[in-house]
Amino acid sequence: MVYSRVRVGIAVGAAALLMWGCGTSQNFVARLEPWRADEEKACLNSGAIRETPFVQVRSALGAPSEYCGASRPFEMSAAAQGRVSMKPTALLRCPMVPAVERWVQTVVEPAARRYLGTELAELTVAGSYSCRPINHVSGGRLSEHGHANALDISQFRLLDGRVVTVKGGWHGDARERNFLRAVHDGACQEFTTVLGPEHDALHHDHFHLDLARHGRDGFGRICK
Ligand SMILES: [Zn+2]
Repeated sequence: MVYSRVRVGIAVGAAALLMWGCGTSQNFVARLEPWRADEEKACLNSGAIRETPFVQVRSALGAPSEYCGASRPFEMSAAAQGRVSMKPTALLRCPMVPAVERWVQTVVEPAARRYLGTELAELTVAGSYSCRPINHVSGGRLSEHGHANALDISQFRLLDGRVVTVKGGWHGDARERNFLRAVHDGACQEFTTVLGPEHDALHHDHFHLDLARHGRDGFGRICK
């Protein structure tokens, strides 16, 4: 496997500093993976996404590295026909958008009704597209966030005004614990990687969801 080492410029470092409070520049290793472009093209051609006021196409992402980005990413500001806001707006490649839609509609909304007795109103997006190494560790592999193939969610706002945070609710009262575990476990049906507080300390305050390929055949899944 041919890996290339890429230096990500100071601009990304500065953004990372603002969002994550870590170093001023980050290197990553990446390899060209043709399946990514093929998969994106197949998704776009499938008609899986129709633009709505809440899901809008935007121009290609790629800077500051050719290894990052997507050819036709989408800005997603809400799911479930606008019932569930996503703040701030997420920037995602094609396959992620229908996966997020299904997760919200078939898992998160029903879990909010069942465990919290109210409707889901908003997801807090802690991260989406970001050309950076995994866990911001300089020298590490390029994150799925670098392909706009990942979404971090840190909290859930409900129609009655309550807010359930991953940080506080994972070990919170029974209703919040049950809600968050249902939301996490249900995500494993839609995404190939789901990482939460049980995974490591870095994920104590958010769920990481992505559509990476795992294992020799590419069909492995990680749900932790
Ligand atoms: Zn993440």
